[in-house]
Amino acid sequence: MELTNKIALVTGSTRGIGLAIAKNFLQAGAKVILNGRGEKLAPEVKSQLNGEFAYISGDLSSPAGAQDLAKAAQEKFGPIQILVNNAGVNRDKLLLGMKPADFHAVLSTDLMGPMILTQALFKPMVKQRTGVIINLASVVGLHGNAGQANYAAAKAGLVGFTKTVAREGALRGIRVNAIAPGMVDSAMTQALSDKVKHQILTEIPLHRLGQPDEIAQTARFLVENDYVTGQTIVVDGGMTM
Ligand code: NAD
Repeated sequence: MELTNKIALVTGSTRGIGLAIAKNFLQAGAKVILNGRGEKLAPEVKSQLNGEFAYISGDLSSPAGAQDLAKAAQEKFGPIQILVNNAGVNRDKLLLGMKPADFHAVLSTDLMGPMILTQALFKPMVKQRTGVIINLASVVGLHGNAGQANYAAAKAGLVGFTKTVAREGALRGIRVNAIAPGMVDSAMTQALSDKVKHQILTEIPLHRLGQPDEIAQTARFLVENDYVTGQTIVVDGGMTM
């Protein structure tokens, strides 16, 4: 799919990977709807964006929030062709210390949010006979990670969801893929202690964190290549080879 004049919704795009994807798509000529939980887009973020974009505040942790976002986004520029389910949170604890609320918070944003939003935008994509959906999973969803039972379950769920919706969309012009990043330099990983970061670096053959731009390049590839669907592309510096 050519990005010129296509309309893309990128959730959780006020910073990090989502912002890098929004910038990349704008550069390719798409009209991009950014999203975050804050009322407004920060001026320092706005000043980094060139092209036609809009910002819609919306909390994806509730089904109503996801449905409202789908509606508002379509009202902004018209039917959407590209959906990137990027918004995600983590609430790490070892299993024995994990409360039901910790499971619920992560599953509702990282799995239910993408499911409700995808469902809301799927029918309009079927009508257009075209659509690309990209879900931000994680290597943790493929291999597990101590302290992240909730996050791993949500991201593994997203991988199964990706394959299923890819099968349902295939004959209707819709492709669905996931990206499974390893450790990317963003607010999510900056919150880790130096000790943990150092330990992680020893496990990455390329011996550095990934950059949000490198995930955005993968998202761009998944939009542009019309013969890839149902895949989870691992971008992790070799960590899980
Ligand atoms: P980040 O914490 O820097 O940004 C997350 C974005 O999601 C922010 O814009 C935040 O406002 C938004 N968000 C969070 N909860 C939301 C909600 N309920 N409604 C709307 N927006 C919400 O994260 P990041 O590192 O850029 O990660 C982006 C995605 O990539 C996430 O799904 C994350 O799980 C995944 N991922 C990240 C890494 C990594 O190392 N950073 C690795 C693997 C997967």
